[in-house]
Amino acid sequence: MNILVVNCGSSSVKYQLIDMDQEFALAKGSVTRIGMSGAILTHKPHDRSEVKVTGEILDHIIAIQYVISILLSENHGVIKDKSEIHAVGHRVVHGGEKFSKSVLIDREVQREIRNLIDLAPLHNPHNIRGINAATKTLPDIPHVAVFDTAFHHKMPPKAYIYGIPYVMYKKYAIRRYGFHGPSHLFVTSRSAELSKGKLEDYKMISCHLGNGASVTAIENGASIDTSMGFTPLEGLLMGTRSGDMDPAVILHIMGREELSLHEANTLLNKHSGLNGVSGISSDMREVIESADEGNTNALLAFEIYCYRLSKYIGGYATAMGGLDHIIFTGGIGENSPRVREKTCEKMQFLGVELDKDKNSSVIGIESDISTPNSRVKVMVIPTNEELVIARDTLRLVNKAEK
Ligand code: ADP
Repeated sequence: MNILVVNCGSSSVKYQLIDMDQEFALAKGSVTRIGMSGAILTHKPHDRSEVKVTGEILDHIIAIQYVISILLSENHGVIKDKSEIHAVGHRVVHGGEKFSKSVLIDREVQREIRNLIDLAPLHNPHNIRGINAATKTLPDIPHVAVFDTAFHHKMPPKAYIYGIPYVMYKKYAIRRYGFHGPSHLFVTSRSAELSKGKLEDYKMISCHLGNGASVTAIENGASIDTSMGFTPLEGLLMGTRSGDMDPAVILHIMGREELSLHEANTLLNKHSGLNGVSGISSDMREVIESADEGNTNALLAFEIYCYRLSKYIGGYATAMGGLDHIIFTGGIGENSPRVREKTCEKMQFLGVELDKDKNSSVIGIESDISTPNSRVKVMVIPTNEELVIARDTLRLVNKAEK
């Protein structure tokens, strides 16, 4: 069975067509600059080189039609007929309290996801646009929604309730939700598999470090706490997001600089984090390069990044009363030995012993980077969120057919 996985952003669609018999991506790619001049379709079939096509792509429906055409095309395609796409898995960022697991999409589910726009105004509208576009283009096959938040659904109230009047939770559903669920699930399951055990057997901390970043504590196979909160702004320092800070700071700045809500939102989400502190870039590679050239603000941004991550790991080890695995994933987690080494620098007391030589040589590949004597395994595991989405889609489609 082939499953098309679709992840829609405001002006982009990322996709993969996965053959689920082999769990193998037949093709992957993206459409960017949708609705702008010079939209770009980048497509990589598994057995041929990448192609780029530019054109005018007005909306997500046309983008999905382009994706299907290239999947079918004679030169760059990987299937011969549309009927070889058997189901579509959609990434949906926010499932609120309503969706604790993936669901088959019908009109009612679409309405419920629309109702959640208030909780995720930056993400859910684009996901809904993707669902509309794909269900119109491929109306005869099942579509499944897989939520970023669902993996965190078993967190206990002590981890998800904020210290504000409880009535705000009741009235506006203000609580910690957590994100990056498919990634945390993929890397922790894989880490358990590599240790020849079950996810339920281990206490794990997974660090998803991409442009957005979150860290999650996993015990008894479930997320018990995670650093992102009501929105993906909370927690770690990120590429352009502030992460944790005293909420009074933003009230103060809004007063001093006479910022609107929208401007304050932009300040915290787009101009903060590595970018804001370093004044150089949101890209960790450039921050590290600049720090090495002597830029003190870049060095500070790097240090805050690792310091904050190491504090979360210490806190979560205490929350679980122990720790078996730390897992690094995402662009930074997979590719930056410097971030991994700095983060683990003071963790010997927790039983973490990093093999520094091994760590330096591991870039973008699955590996155990701890010493044989380390009580805690430190793993690098490239994430595969698309595969988690495809697996859930397959499971629900099979269940519906029974
Ligand atoms: P997204 O969250 O957009 O999917 P990625 O997971 O691709 O992002 O991660 C992007 C981040 O990974 C950027 O900060 C980039 O600098 C970082 N990154 C990629 N390669 C390296 C590397 N070799 N060293 C340090 N950081 C890296």
